[in-house]
Order: sequence, then structure tokens, then C-alpha cells
Amino acid sequence: MFEPSAEHAAIRDGVAQICARFPGAYWRDLDARRAYPEDFVKALTEAGYLSAMIPEDYGGSGLNLSAAAAILEEIHRSGCNAAACHAQMYTMGTVLRHGSPEQKRQYLPRIADGSLRLQAFGVTEPTSGTDTLALRTTAAREGDEYVVNGQKIWTSRAEYSDLMVLLARTTAREAVKTRTEGLSVFLIDLRPLVGNGVTIKPIRTMMNHATTEVFFDGARIPASSLIGEEGKGFRYILSGMNAERILISAECIGDAKWFLAKGAAYAKERVVFGRPIGVNQGVQFPLARAYAHMLAAEAIVYRAAAMYDGGLDPGIEANSAKMLAADASWEAAEACLQTHGGFGFAEEYDVERKFRETRLYQVAPIPTNLILSFLAERALGLPKSYG
Ligand SMILES: Cc1cc2nc3c(=O)[nH]c(=O)nc-3n(C[C@H](O)[C@H](O)[C@H](O)COP(=O)(O)OP(=O)(O)OC[C@H]3O[C@@H](n4cnc5c(N)ncnc54)[C@H](O)[C@@H]3O)c2cc1C
Repeated sequence: MFEPSAEHAAIRDGVAQICARFPGAYWRDLDARRAYPEDFVKALTEAGYLSAMIPEDYGGSGLNLSAAAAILEEIHRSGCNAAACHAQMYTMGTVLRHGSPEQKRQYLPRIADGSLRLQAFGVTEPTSGTDTLALRTTAAREGDEYVVNGQKIWTSRAEYSDLMVLLARTTAREAVKTRTEGLSVFLIDLRPLVGNGVTIKPIRTMMNHATTEVFFDGARIPASSLIGEEGKGFRYILSGMNAERILISAECIGDAKWFLAKGAAYAKERVVFGRPIGVNQGVQFPLARAYAHMLAAEAIVYRAAAMYDGGLDPGIEANSAKMLAADASWEAAEACLQTHGGFGFAEEYDVERKFRETRLYQVAPIPTNLILSFLAERALGLPKSYG
């Protein structure tokens, strides 16, 4: 469907071979039990795909965001779900771009070889929601430590991650000139903290996502956990958010391709009124329309990735990509389910599961309304309607 570079074609083939070992039955079983896909994550880690963006000097493959996008897209196109492990790709940018040489030496080789997992990203809080700058979790410096108090919500994979990238306020809002100042990013080791200042509570959701609430109650972290400069954390997180949006867009493109292939295959084989349902234009057109929208979204996703790789600031493109790709996957999901008729609702077809999974991307990591507000302000010069 897309003309990937030769390099990406090889990556896609390698990922597809791993994914073939994890068919729909594997994901259905996990979905029913709301269990974590340990074997799948292990297979991707061992093959080196989750350390794609870690430089070769630190044991990774040193690939760029475009390659990481191709990996995640292929996982989703194959019917698997990268949500259990994609954070390792997009949180990596914060560590790579802003971490100290010592932090990189300490963590990156162990993340690359799979002995440490960096899967948790603690930004959202219950009272602040999308208004990140209103977050209330604090980290107060005391000697060689910071003491963290507050609460995060929707911190996915916290139970299955050794490390967490955490955003907290280090200077009170009243003591800084603008809301963007006074926030800091930390790379924290959760293992000694759980039960010792940190409590993790799972939240059961409509799909299998291993998401949680994380409570910080006087949690003591070494001062060396700070990434970059104190008070500059929001800027670091923003550049990471572009990477996150681009990578999740690529997953949506993969989902859209999966739904379209599945829907078209079913339309060819299902015979009603003595002929395949796929000969009816009423069945063809929703799939064809979704296909066209997927192609357009795919172009902007890889354009945003190329801009990111070129050191540009692709804020407008990354946000546009996220919205268009999430819309394309949702449209393809709807067309696929409708094509399947009643069987679309049966678990064994995997359509209803993927339908639930891809719905998330209308809301997370950023809801469509907030993308539209951002584009209205930044691309069209209209008054800011948020913040
Ligand atoms: C399964 C799941 C996993 C997640 N994983 C993580 C994670 O790992 N780490 C993390 O930090 N966060 C995570 N999130 C949080 C996610 O990023 C937020 O849910 C999302 O940003 C929306 O925030 P909110 O839920 O507080 O919605 P709210 O901010 O309360 O918004 C609710 C609705 O109001 C709309 N709205 C709000 N303000 C405006 C406005 N000014 N104009 C127009 N519309 C507006 C929004 O579009 C939205 O539809 C996850 C969420 C989910 C559901």
C-alpha cells in the first residue's frame, strides 16, 4: 500500500515474521484476562526492535523515528498491538536528547538488552487532564534527593516497567513568571519505590491496556534522577510529545491497513443473495473511502517523521498526523465492522477487539479537540482557546 524505503521493507519483514507467531488467539486470550503480553514484548526486545532508537554505542540499533514508526505500524498491520511496549520508543527521545552522559551510560545499555524496561510515562493527573501545566505533583529538593508527592492517572504499563519518565513541579506556580517554567522531568527507578512511597493501582478499561493510577506519598528519589536542567522539563516533554504523536499515528495507519485487509477479504468470501457481498457498491464504498483517507494520513505521518529526523520542529505536522491517522483507523474500523455484519461482533473474528483498541486514539495521547485548538492557533493564527 505504501512504498517504504528498502531499509524499512527489511524492518517490516522482520517485524511481520515475529508478529506471525502471535495470532489473534493469543491476543483474544490476553484480552479476556486483561493480561500483559509478556511473550510478545520479550520477542520484540530480543529481536532488538524496542531498542531501535538507542544509539549503537549504547547497545541499540541507532535507527531514526521513521524506522521506529515503520516498526510500530507493522505490528498493528499484523493484527498485534504495540501499546504494551510503544512508550519505550517515544520516551527514549527525552533521555537521548536531554539525559546526561552518566544517565545514558547507566540506563541505555540495560534498556537495550531488555534487563530494564522503560515503559511508563507519568504526565496526566486526575485534576489537570489535558491541561498539563496545571499538574499538581511536586518534587521538592532535600539534600541529595527529591521528595515526590502527588498523583498520576492513566500511567500505562507502570506495573510492568522498571523505570518511569515523570513530570513534576519543582518550583511553585506562584514563584515562576510563566506556567511553562518550574516543571522538571525525572527518570526514576520504580522498583525500590513501590510499597515505599509509591502505590500503583490498575484501572480496568474497555480494552486490554494495563493502565494505572500512581500515588506518590513522600517518595524519595535520588537528585541524579533529574533529566537536564531543573525547571525546564515542559520543553523536554513537548519535543517528546511530537515523537509520541507521530509513532501513535503510525500505529493507527497499521490498524487502518489491518481493518481494510480484513474487511475486503470478508467482503470477497461472504455470500448473501447468491453472490459475494463485496460486489455491492454499498459494501465497497465505505472501505474504498477509508482506504483513500488512510493513504492521505500515511503521507503526513511519514512527512512528520522525516521532519523530526531532520531536526525540525514538526508540531503542526505531528498533531495533524495524529488526528488524520486516528480518524482513518476509526473510519476503517467502522467500515470493517459493518462489512462483517453480525460476525463483526463475535470475538473470534478479532474485529470487535481491534475496534475497541483503535477507539482510544480519538482521546489519547491527545484528544482531537485539543489538536484542532492547537492547529487553529498555531497554523491559522486564531486566538488561543485553551490554557
Ligand atoms: C487507556 C489510556 C492510556 C493512557 N496512557 C497514558 C500514559 O501512559 N501517560 C499519561 O501521562 N497519560 C496517559 N493517558 C491520558 C491521556 O493522555 C488523557 O486521557 C488525554 O490527554 C485526555 O485527558 P483527560 O482524560 O483528562 O480529558 P480532559 O482533559 O478532561 O478532556 C475531556 C474532554 O473534553 C475536551 N476538552 C477539554 N478541554 C477542551 C477545550 N479547551 N476545548 C475543547 N475541548 C476540550 C477533550 O477534547 C476531551 O474530549 C491515557 C489515557 C487512556 C484513556
